[in-house]
Amino acid sequence: MPELPEVETTRRGIEPAVVSHTIERVIVREQRLRWPVPRELPAVLSHQRVNTLERRAKYLLFGVNDGTLIVHLGMSGSLRVLPAATPPLLHDHIDLLFDSGACLRFNDPRRFGSFSWTTDDPRQHPLLRALGPEPLSDDFNGQALARASRGRKVAIKQLLMNSQVVVGVGNIYASEALFRARVRPRRAAGRLKQAEFDAIAKAIKQVLREAIRSGGTTLRDYVNADGMPGYFRQKLYVYERSGEPCRICQAPIRHFVQGQRSTYFCATCQK
Ligand SMILES: [Zn+2]
Repeated sequence: MPELPEVETTRRGIEPAVVSHTIERVIVREQRLRWPVPRELPAVLSHQRVNTLERRAKYLLFGVNDGTLIVHLGMSGSLRVLPAATPPLLHDHIDLLFDSGACLRFNDPRRFGSFSWTTDDPRQHPLLRALGPEPLSDDFNGQALARASRGRKVAIKQLLMNSQVVVGVGNIYASEALFRARVRPRRAAGRLKQAEFDAIAKAIKQVLREAIRSGGTTLRDYVNADGMPGYFRQKLYVYERSGEPCRICQAPIRHFVQGQRSTYFCATCQK
């Protein structure tokens, strides 16, 4: 599943072909995505210049003169820039054709992605308005994490994966950040010390930045089947390393199921 770093890598990768260019035509081959693609989409987007391409959580916001196209890649979606004449393959559901001759093509085998259109402030859209702070912004830090955790018994790892607390911290990045911060994933969020919140917030920023950098260096085919940048996988400390030696202390990495997701940690390095 594309996580925040892959979405940000996509944004950076497609931005030059999209921003300051005009959409000439939109082809929708498959309307049935996670929600039906709005029928008016080809009409409202045609002849519109893309002024901005921003990311909020895992949504890409294409700002045009009359409104905003909000795209989510879902479980298996991808956006690629191709010459307009490139024949569509299976699962190539939507094309945005630009006046430059480039085509932005959306492919999504599982069809959990979405294309939404709004003429209002996109940040107030029902999909976006309840989202917590961006992890790489100054609004997210140890103090914000401590505030969100106060009095809560929920496990810290599950709190980090709650998009009302902070967006874009999926299973991989929550596991890796907790390892770096030396905090066990099952501890009650409300019981952590301020120094631990500070360490976790810092580790989340670090691990996401590293993943974005890795994605950026392998842009052409940066995703594996599970959507993780290829080079980044080699740097993981705990995720999917059950039974393998900890890269710091050599103790075997442990694994348990938490909230129906696999969680990995080192019982020696993490307290
Ligand atoms: Zn260890």
